Amino acid sequence: MENWLSKRAYLSPDAPAVQYGSQELTFKELQVAVLALAGKLVNVLDGNQRVGLLTRNNLMGYELILALQQLGRQIVLLNSRLADDELAYQISDANLSQVVVDDQLQYQLAVEQLSFTTIKNTQGKTVEPVVEFDNDQVTTIMYTSGTTGKPKGVLQTFGNHFYSAMGSVLNLGLTDQEAWLAVVPIFHISGLSIMMRSLLYGTKVVLVEKFSATDINHLLLDGQATIMSVVPTMLTALQADLSLGQRYPKHFRTFLVGGGPIDRTDLEHAQASGATIVQSYGMTETASQVVALDPKDAVKKIGSVGKPLFPVSLRIKTNDTSVNAVGRVQLKSPTLTAGYLNQTKKYLASFDEGWFDTGDWGYLDSEGYLYIVGREGDMISSGGENVFPDEVEAVYRALPEVDEVVVLGKKNQEWGQVPVAIIRFKAAASLSSEALRAYGRQHLAHYKVPQTFYLDQGTSFPRTASGKLQRYQLAKVLASFDLLP
Ligand code: ATP
Ligand code: MG
Repeated sequence: MENWLSKRAYLSPDAPAVQYGSQELTFKELQVAVLALAGKLVNVLDGNQRVGLLTRNNLMGYELILALQQLGRQIVLLNSRLADDELAYQISDANLSQVVVDDQLQYQLAVEQLSFTTIKNTQGKTVEPVVEFDNDQVTTIMYTSGTTGKPKGVLQTFGNHFYSAMGSVLNLGLTDQEAWLAVVPIFHISGLSIMMRSLLYGTKVVLVEKFSATDINHLLLDGQATIMSVVPTMLTALQADLSLGQRYPKHFRTFLVGGGPIDRTDLEHAQASGATIVQSYGMTETASQVVALDPKDAVKKIGSVGKPLFPVSLRIKTNDTSVNAVGRVQLKSPTLTAGYLNQTKKYLASFDEGWFDTGDWGYLDSEGYLYIVGREGDMISSGGENVFPDEVEAVYRALPEVDEVVVLGKKNQEWGQVPVAIIRFKAAASLSSEALRAYGRQHLAHYKVPQTFYLDQGTSFPRTASGKLQRYQLAKVLASFDLLP
């Protein structure tokens, strides 16, 4: 395929490409800015094919991603919220020699850092952008969140991004005046995929650096966006910020929700505010969403992430032939990563009869809607039965006394593993272990009821930079919690 930026600037030069605060660029203007930046970059980059980038969602970071693509470099999109040690691992794994760093951010890294200001102040020269964006060419490398272990470097090709954008538009369609609000990070696939779609569709991105419910609602109520990608906590915060009866304009089509399940209250609030909700499921390895729920099914199929997008095939691997049988979620998709960096064995081991095993467990209902029930590392295998922490936690979270609860597996001689829970009560509230077990037995199969309860007194649980609970880390320090009498 022809270079996407060249092609887009040729097809729709005057269409709005990106809005950032009070700045707005058309595709032609964006191309000019990006090529100017590319001309500066060539004067400071060494010969390493891979360049690291640490940025927040701002215009310079946005243009840098595109500029590095214009030069045919591979961009290693590092998560700017990581600690120095975490970054050090990824920088060494990706064999980086230079990392371009947003001036607002500060790190101690063992490689050369090129600040945005240094690049801006560099004398530029004219560069010829690459002619082709080859489908098989790796353009970005992005590390998984590290929820279940060390993050894996995911190789993303132009073909992956292309089919991801096609799968999305075949599902959501396009309107005139489309404007996709990107406050989800552009160093994650959720944000980067919005950028790639913009080039392919010729639509605008409203880029926002920092999530503030009030500021975002202001933009949405003002009709400045038609779609917004969110994680569930953003949706909750946006709804909480709206005043009673306040409604989003018709122009605003949908919240695309990914990364985790949303609850019924959030769904109802969002619908009351006139917004539709598209729930979706995806991973870094699949270049964003691969399964999405049609908004008309949002209530009827609450809890489901929907059906696979057009280019995606999906199966549940299980020996159980009954409807709703839980098994491994496996898929085939042109958006599937070409591999894990330096981990060919791990990548190849992820395939089962040609299907990519996502590591997630789920089931399809009789109408073919997918439900995710948990993930590989988190599943507790107790006496031959599988227990998914999410289900048990949801039952206990419904208790008014409970502030937070985490369920883990603990080694057990008789059963292999048993579920145990760490529980935190709301101020002044408490329940005994026996009362909690009795409650569990009313709502859950006996093997799912936590055998032991530990008391949490306000420690913060280990989480990834994107806020996902790392159960495997918590399991290591279980002994440090007091038993709940
Ligand atoms: P790692 O692979 O390093 O352990 P990670 O899997 O959390 O980290 P990501 O690629 O950011 O890294 O996240 C993808 C995962 O997020 C999916 O495999 C799935 O477990 C979870 N996920 C994504 N969307 C949903 C959803 N709608 N509902 C439930 N879980 C989801
Ligand atoms: Mg994963």
